[in-house]
Amino acid sequence: MPSANYLKLTNGLPKRQSSIYIQLRTRHIPLNYHLHRINKSESPHCPTCPGTNETIHHFIFECPQYQRERHIYANATRRNALSITHLLSSEKATPHLLRYINSTGRLKPTFGEI
Ligand SMILES: [Zn+2]
Repeated sequence: MPSANYLKLTNGLPKRQSSIYIQLRTRHIPLNYHLHRINKSESPHCPTCPGTNETIHHFIFECPQYQRERHIYANATRRNALSITHLLSSEKATPHLLRYINSTGRLKPTFGEI
């Protein structure tokens, strides 16, 4: 059974957004680092950063490819943007995070527009 907190956070989110949210929480998101572990990608590396694992952390906080999107997102969430634990447990931060993910276009091949 999903926790009450989880139900509260995903309640009212469109299906695709809540799927992404669940994948973030379980770390089973279709980024190369995870895909590589389940043999769905040849490399665990970020497509734009050779030699760097494409983890959730890299995707959200580090990848230079999404600097512009991250700036908008950081302004919206302020300092809380730097804590993934906060992001995944805060009702306020979730929409910003999903907006960021959508604006990067990185998960479009899997989810389409979210
Ligand atoms: Zn990168």
